[in-house]
Amino acid sequence: MMAALTAAEAGHSVTLFEKNEKLGKKLFLTGKGRCNLTNDADISDFFAEVERNPKFLYSAFYGFDNRAVTDFFSERCHVPLKTERGGRVFPVSDHSSDIIRALEKELAKALVTVRLHTAVTAIERDGESGFRLVMEKGKPFHANAVVLATGGKSYPTTGADGTAFAMARSLGHTVTPLLPSLVPLVTEEHFGERLAGLTLKNVTLTIYDGRKTLCSEFGELLFTHTGLSGPIALKASCRAAERLGDGKKLALSLDLKPALTEEKLTERILREIEATPNQALKTLMPRLLPKSLGEVLLEAASLPPQTRLHSLTKEMRQTLIGALKAFPLTAVDTAGFREAIITNGGIPVKEIDPATMESKLVPGLFFAGEMIDCDAHTGGFNLQIAWSTGRLAGESIKRSEK
Ligand SMILES: Cc1cc2nc3c(=O)[nH]c(=O)nc-3n(C[C@H](O)[C@H](O)[C@H](O)COP(=O)(O)OP(=O)(O)OC[C@H]3O[C@@H](n4cnc5c(N)ncnc54)[C@H](O)[C@@H]3O)c2cc1C
Repeated sequence: MMAALTAAEAGHSVTLFEKNEKLGKKLFLTGKGRCNLTNDADISDFFAEVERNPKFLYSAFYGFDNRAVTDFFSERCHVPLKTERGGRVFPVSDHSSDIIRALEKELAKALVTVRLHTAVTAIERDGESGFRLVMEKGKPFHANAVVLATGGKSYPTTGADGTAFAMARSLGHTVTPLLPSLVPLVTEEHFGERLAGLTLKNVTLTIYDGRKTLCSEFGELLFTHTGLSGPIALKASCRAAERLGDGKKLALSLDLKPALTEEKLTERILREIEATPNQALKTLMPRLLPKSLGEVLLEAASLPPQTRLHSLTKEMRQTLIGALKAFPLTAVDTAGFREAIITNGGIPVKEIDPATMESKLVPGLFFAGEMIDCDAHTGGFNLQIAWSTGRLAGESIKRSEK
């Protein structure tokens, strides 16, 4: 949508093909229906939030940065915006539909022809210059230039099912392996109903590949029926997806008390024991953790919940502290594309000119958005990639034709 609008404003006659019955089906779901459209951080800080190929985005980010995006929506489209925790920018209305409607209005004003229910099934070279687009239904369409912005493979129900990568392949491009990312982790240990829905606010999740630490994330974690989700599990999945995709199992360690060193935690537990020596261990746990997690932790650490605190041996105390500081879990898989916020992989950046988004292999073919091999963390950074690369592709069509 951003690429089509920009190209139309540059004076091109533009047709946007969308296979769905409406525009922006995925955009509608973003930010839990509220659309976290970008981030308020300095644009120079965005690169650290991009997991793969951040440098490729230099021209795109600086050419149409987060300020330009917020100006576009708030000033030009009159959609008031607000900034929340972590610099996340949302429409004040909390409705992603406002962002979609604003784009639709701008597309109409710029006289972009929008053809809904129109799946493009093939793109072929059409003579010396230009392309022939083949549709599922109807006549083929001739275009002088094409922007492929067909998304990744995640949440296929929104239309981004990955089938469009075949079109890029047919024109000579390659596609790096596609993996689900920003995706819940499936663990070997199933706590099912006992923990599903439980959120922990300030914990640290560390992922190991053998002895190597893959990543360590601090923040909010959510237990699901099959494993772990929430911001830190999703972020960690960016590093784990490739290995899990190869069928590897990865050791996870959960620090449930990251603010306390082992010594401080020992002091805290000794104080509790001294205050209530005749109480059972199971009554101590809710003072340290949510009740359901306390029960699971004692079971996993093989500590009898009825043990009186005064009879807790030093060894048992150390086992308890060990479980609180490094609760072990094993990741065996991700929840897959169906639940992945983003796709890791796509058209290799070395096949695209970063200054224009034009294919280095096929003149007149441009790429934008998630189909490029760039993916970022949550916080509005993935949509910023889509806006910036879409803008740059739309602007560059003109330059490439001069
Ligand atoms: C649940 C969820 C929440 C998210 N929340 C956020 C968030 O809050 N902030 C953020 O920054 N990012 C978020 N993301 C990521 C963000 O939505 C994507 O990075 C972004 O939408 C990518 O834009 P795109 O235009 O490249 O692809 P898409 O938005 O996927 O659009 C591609 C379009 O191409 C169409 N299409 C595909 N193939 C064809 C074809 N052959 N013919 C015609 N049309 C075709 C599809 O139907 C689709 O409409 C979220 C993702 C998900 C799944």
